[in-house]
Amino acid sequence: GALSLPATEAGSSEVYRPHGGIWIFAEQRGGRMAPVSLELLGEARRLAARMQVPVAAVLFGHQVQELTAGLIAGGADKVYLVDHPRLADFVEEPYAAALTALARREQPEIILAGATYLGRAFIPRVAALLDTGLTADCTAFDLETETNLLLQTRPAFGGNIMATILTPRSYPQMATVRPRVMKKLALQSDREGTVIPVRLEELEQPFRSRFLETVSEITEAIPLGEAEVIVAGGRGLQDGKNFQLLEELADLLGGAVGATRAAVDAGWISYQHQIGQTGKTVAPRLYFACGISGAAQHLVGMQSSDFIVAINSDPQAPIFQIADIGLVGDMFEIIPALIQQIKAS
Ligand code: FAD
Repeated sequence: GALSLPATEAGSSEVYRPHGGIWIFAEQRGGRMAPVSLELLGEARRLAARMQVPVAAVLFGHQVQELTAGLIAGGADKVYLVDHPRLADFVEEPYAAALTALARREQPEIILAGATYLGRAFIPRVAALLDTGLTADCTAFDLETETNLLLQTRPAFGGNIMATILTPRSYPQMATVRPRVMKKLALQSDREGTVIPVRLEELEQPFRSRFLETVSEITEAIPLGEAEVIVAGGRGLQDGKNFQLLEELADLLGGAVGATRAAVDAGWISYQHQIGQTGKTVAPRLYFACGISGAAQHLVGMQSSDFIVAINSDPQAPIFQIADIGLVGDMFEIIPALIQQIKAS
């Protein structure tokens, strides 16, 4: 039977007694699990081993039951499944209401979610409703000895320093986590776990916002955030049509095309391709920075890439300080030569 929970008022005076283990928000859209969910499970298991608590995944959606097995195989002991038509498409209000209600009842110690568009949109709302702290965009966790409070590390000041943040006496301990930073576990299909279907009266209330339709963005074949290879271009490209050169290289390597804000502001490529402080954060295995100077605001979005190749005509360009390979020269000579080599090999 479903666990049926009565509605409570926002700001209820019930005491929060953290005992519900570590939760990760399992993000799915259109029945497809976001890769960050499994990364969160990997990290949650590591923390849970030290805290001696169970790990639960919270899955919202409609007719998404079949995703529960993957969460258990990925490390969840329990999956709270809130299956409701209202949760079929992402809308902040019902998502926030549902996670808040569930957390009030089950009182987890920790809630982790991906620092994705979705997580960034509704998790702060949940933290506010639960009257607790939240650290956004974390890249590492540890536990404070004795208290088991979460030590939350995240880049600060444009990535120039790493800050470790602690929110004392504030439960649940909440954080969003940058995708592609934490390590997922190998899927183990015989792992034991329980699926707990949950009905929430909170979802029956009227909400101020409602879902009308999805206007899908024009996506490249491989989403930037998931590409293993990214070929990024900056102002050095001189013209929007020169992005074709980068596309050709990206296609050959099965990668995606990224850009600096300078290139986006010039109208050469759409904002979806922007990497950096005000764009996407990426960490591919291989990153080509072509005609990119290496401004701090760009570096924060790509510096955790495994291997960085920089092509720039200016030997003093700051990008060379973080590049694994630096090619000093004209990209309009170097890239066609690279393309030729790859085609020949
Ligand atoms: P430039 O700095 O102009 O560099 C162009 C480079 O191309 C130069 O190094 C030049 O030597 C090289 N070059 C020129 N011709 C060639 C050639 N033929 N072959 C090889 N190399 C050549 N920027 C981002 O990217 N992402 C962000 O999210 C972002 N957010 C920002 C947020 C704020 C609040 C602010 C203030 C700035 C932000 N910026 C961001 C802008 C950032 O500060 C830089 O201005 C921008 O990254 C520079 O882009 P660029 O490297 O393409 O251009």
